[in-house]
Amino acid sequence: MEQKVRVRFAPSPTGPLHIGGVRTALYNYLFAKQHKGDFVLRIEDTDSQRFVPGAEAYIIEALTWLGLKFDEGVHLGGDFGPYRQSERKGIYKQYVDQLINDGLAYYAFDTPAELEQKRNEIKNFQYDASTRSMMRNSLTLSEEETKTLIENGEQYVVRFKIEPHEDVVVDDLIRGEVVINSSILDDKVLYKSADSLPTYHLANIVDDHLMKITHVIRGEEWLPSAPLHVLLYRAFGWTDTMPRFAHLPLLLKPEGNGKLSKRDGDRLGFPVFPLEWKDPKTSEISSGYRESGYLPEAVVNFLALLGWNPGNDEEILSMERLIELFSLEKCSKSGAKFDYEKGKWFNHQYIQLKPNAEIAELYTPYLKEHQVSVDIEYVEKVVGLVKERVNFVKELWDQSFFFFVAPTSFDEKTVKKRWKEDSPAQLAELSEVLKNIDDFSAHNQEEIVKAWIESKAYHLGNIMNAFRLAIVGESKGPHMFDITEAIGKEETLKRLDYAIKNISANV
Ligand code: GLU
Repeated sequence: MEQKVRVRFAPSPTGPLHIGGVRTALYNYLFAKQHKGDFVLRIEDTDSQRFVPGAEAYIIEALTWLGLKFDEGVHLGGDFGPYRQSERKGIYKQYVDQLINDGLAYYAFDTPAELEQKRNEIKNFQYDASTRSMMRNSLTLSEEETKTLIENGEQYVVRFKIEPHEDVVVDDLIRGEVVINSSILDDKVLYKSADSLPTYHLANIVDDHLMKITHVIRGEEWLPSAPLHVLLYRAFGWTDTMPRFAHLPLLLKPEGNGKLSKRDGDRLGFPVFPLEWKDPKTSEISSGYRESGYLPEAVVNFLALLGWNPGNDEEILSMERLIELFSLEKCSKSGAKFDYEKGKWFNHQYIQLKPNAEIAELYTPYLKEHQVSVDIEYVEKVVGLVKERVNFVKELWDQSFFFFVAPTSFDEKTVKKRWKEDSPAQLAELSEVLKNIDDFSAHNQEEIVKAWIESKAYHLGNIMNAFRLAIVGESKGPHMFDITEAIGKEETLKRLDYAIKNISANV
């Protein structure tokens, strides 16, 4: 029987989730759902020094906002819990002991000062096969001495004993075979007696094993740890059930080289976090995609294509479609430039795709801010007329305020350019024409008004420009008769009258 696919997103709660981390979570989710597998949230909080309060809740809120649903996790429970490593403390020690008993790990008692001294003595010091014999550890001390030190409560760490001169192969689903010689690896610390906690490496491997994880999909920054992880699986005798690895390419700066950073976002004006984040220590606020007005679907679509593409020119991809098409094999090996302008483009596309009713709901709070309260059906209609002009819901006001409030002042430049000597008289005539129209639909108005302009041999452009100035207050907006149809005959006539009285006074 095929093994059930199980993947995990395993963040350390050290701050807000970076947008690159969101992409990692997304790819895990897509992969899991495509294979009808499980998507697990595990919190890797064994490094208490770096723990940041609120980070875990932030991660859950962000991924929930984006529609990434976990099957198991710290917030949901499941058959493989607990899902927070600090709550799994009791689980790890036996695995550390197993490695020690098998001679694959050892106790090391070197104090920070002793290590520092060695670093000063030996250039490029690394705790490994070439140096471990000079150190204070259970390989150099007698069994008796080691036992006494531990019994006396001396602090120690457990180090993994890496044999040198071996090519370790990491078979990566994105990068192919990555070979690293074990001589460059150091004897990594797996456990610390000081807090009775394993380090990331040990906890990560033990948990992936116990949680029956089949695929480890994570950022490229973890690739250097992968050979160590392969060796750990072997040391435990778990090679047969070792997960497949897939290391995702980096997200790169929009311009220049290097990894995308928060500073790039600050400098160029785009968020690098999914949600707004307030640093609990400094109270510094970092902007988020949600608060900046991005729709979750747009963020998902945008991120999905940063490092992967479906191999055709499909660009607008719903979550369902992404689940269908996603493949690790099509992920690129090289970094993906973070093109934030494209992010805006996606938001624009999703605003067009969403039903007007939904956008109208999102627009309502902004209308309230401007003390506008009207029927939602009216808002819906307005949204339909102007949404093609915006990238964000918050930009709708600037494109549609005149559907809700009559102009009381008129843009000076437009007045100079568009308000001719005969404008007041012509608009007064136009007002009469409009007054007699019963069917005030855009189409009918247009037909009648154009016929009148023609019969009078007036200049179409002049009339329409002055008309727009009177109704809108400046020279913007969608099709003129769509506006007048929406605001209605009475309001149209009122605005014409006001403009005639007030603009003419200026000329
Ligand atoms: N805790 C690691 C992180 O914060 C997890 C790396 C992994 O997925 O193995 O990214």
